[in-house]
This record gives sequence, C-alpha cells and structure tokens, in this order.
Amino acid sequence: MVRYEPPKHNRYRRIYRILQQTAFYDELVADLNASFSFPRNIRIVFDQCDEPNAFYDPETVEIIMCYELIKYYADITHREFQEDYALEVIYAGFFTFYHELGHAMIDQYQLTITGQEEDAVDEFAAILLIDAQEYDAVIAGMDQFDIDAIEEAELGEELVYWGEHSFSDQRFYNTACLIYGSAPDEFSDWVYDEDNSWDEDAFLPVERAEICEADYQRALTSWERLLAPYLK
Ligand SMILES: [Zn+2]
Repeated sequence: MVRYEPPKHNRYRRIYRILQQTAFYDELVADLNASFSFPRNIRIVFDQCDEPNAFYDPETVEIIMCYELIKYYADITHREFQEDYALEVIYAGFFTFYHELGHAMIDQYQLTITGQEEDAVDEFAAILLIDAQEYDAVIAGMDQFDIDAIEEAELGEELVYWGEHSFSDQRFYNTACLIYGSAPDEFSDWVYDEDNSWDEDAFLPVERAEICEADYQRALTSWERLLAPYLK
C-alpha cells in the first residue's frame, strides 16, 4: 500500500500531486505484490522529512520516500533535459525506491548476502530494473550518482572513508557496468578506449568494461537464486 502524506511546505505540492495523479507507485506496488509473497506488509510512505533522503525502517516495516529527494533530482534533471516534469518526478525516485526495496527484502526474507549491504541493494535495484527493461530508470540512478559525486568531490579533505556507502563515483561505475554487461552491443558506445576516445559519450574504461558481462551474469544468477523461494 502506498501512502502520500500531504507535505507541510508548498514547494512539494506539485510533486505530491503528480505522484498521486500518475498513480505510478500504486501500480508498481500492485505488480510487486503480484510477483512476490511478502511475509509482512511493507508500507510505502511518501512524506516530507526535512532532508533529501529515502530509507527503510525495519521497526515499522516502512519504506519512506522523502519529497525533498524527489524534488532535488527531478529539478536538476528537468533543468538539463527539459522533459515532461511528471516523468522526471517518477524517474527521480524510481531507482532509489528499488534500492530501499532491496533493504526491505534482505530484512524481511533474512536473505544471505555478503559484502556491504549498500552495494548489494544497488545491485538488486539495477538487476531487477534491467530485468523489467526499465533501462531509463537505471540510467537515471547513474545520473543521480554522478550528481552526488560532484558534491563529494567538493568536500575535499572533509570526505569521509568510514561510511557504509561506496563513493558515488564507484556506485556510478558499478551501475554502468551492470547495464553495459546486460547488453554490450547496445551500449558499446559507452566504452572508452583508444579507438573510441573521440566519442564524448564514452566514459566506461575498457579495463572495466571487459568484466561487465560476467559481473552482470553473476549478479543476475545470484539474485534469481536468492529471490526464487519468494516468487509467486
Ligand atoms: Zn541504502
């Protein structure tokens, strides 16, 4: 079930309206409920939180999506691309929603994962969205890591190394690698090497691109096995 809390501040009204009118997340949640059996009802709450964030609360079994986060990414990408604002609003939260859903699934199903949970749920989001052919959503996620990486770079010596998340630049390349690895022919113009150094769209160094197909296959198989018992 999706709940939209009325925002306290008027600046989030438009996003609040778009989310309700498009019913995008209501349909997404209906699809997820048709695909997975959840041991407990995971509530999805859109709310004003006074910070641009999203999180999963294991105590209340809620995914909280903050209007601030959606507005932040939607406004930046909208300025850049001038596309339909309603679409920008949807894409601004789509990848993050799957990231948080990954946390919820790990908690609710007590999934066995290794490595940092934050990396695992980025991978979960990318794999499930690629599988659903939602490439634009994963690319929007990459763009968000790119935006966050600029902020991190500005921190300079104040950048911390003890955080639970990988650096945004790493999250950007890890996500790009999974997309490229899922369809190397389709995304071949992303790969940066001497032959392609003239192409300004090329950003994925060939040294990384070489392992992406295997990375994608491993990630896909791992998540298929982990989630198989819970599919309807
Ligand atoms: Zn997280």
